[in-house]
Amino acid sequence: MTEPSADTKPALAGIDFLPGPVLLLGAPGVGKGTQAQALVRLFGMPQISTGDILRKNIADKTDLGLRAKSLMDQGLFVDDETVNGMVAARLNQPGIERGFILDGYPRTLVQAGFIDALLDLHREAGTGGSALHLPLVAISIRVDEDELLRRITGRRICPTCKRSYNIYAHPPASEGICDFDGTVLEQRADDTGETFRERMVEYTAKTAYVIEHYRNKGCFAEVEGARSVNEVTRSISEALKRLRSS
Ligand SMILES: [Zn+2]
Repeated sequence: MTEPSADTKPALAGIDFLPGPVLLLGAPGVGKGTQAQALVRLFGMPQISTGDILRKNIADKTDLGLRAKSLMDQGLFVDDETVNGMVAARLNQPGIERGFILDGYPRTLVQAGFIDALLDLHREAGTGGSALHLPLVAISIRVDEDELLRRITGRRICPTCKRSYNIYAHPPASEGICDFDGTVLEQRADDTGETFRERMVEYTAKTAYVIEHYRNKGCFAEVEGARSVNEVTRSISEALKRLRSS
């Protein structure tokens, strides 16, 4: 879990609004992780990932963590109720006064309904000095599917220095060879078109209802992700500001 610390103070002057709770969405390969880190720095708010919360609850042996572990040990999915409980507990901890970025949650309509109702309760209770009185907004980073395919199938990694290349966008000086140490570059086994298409189908199926839910509430925006990291961050920030002022 990324906690705000001295180096995650708001980095940009001119941020004159509270970002509040944000769900960041994006298909595999759109650069969602990079954008989440940039937003953490820009707004001085933490990223709350369900994977991190789950691991922490299991490590701390909380009741919810023990329940999740028992399900996972049986090869079962962790149910909505358990995940909801962990998220609710996390939102009672400090550090989210300006807002937070949710990663991997809500993933179902049940989870979306839960977090919306939880934030409504905070609003009605007038939880002072906290971004919890704002509704959750969802921002999706969109990249054309052909471009994503090139990003993923074009990826080559140097096994020696771990540098990453892309044969389309950022090729090495001599084909198939690392610029820095001359090692033969490798392609990861799952960086194939077939795996990519499977993941896209899974991603679309998983997020469609949640996107529709927030779109219907007027709490959804989509930004173009096939640009530089800074340009995408700026677009997300602008979209967020629009959503917060509407
Ligand atoms: Zn290398």
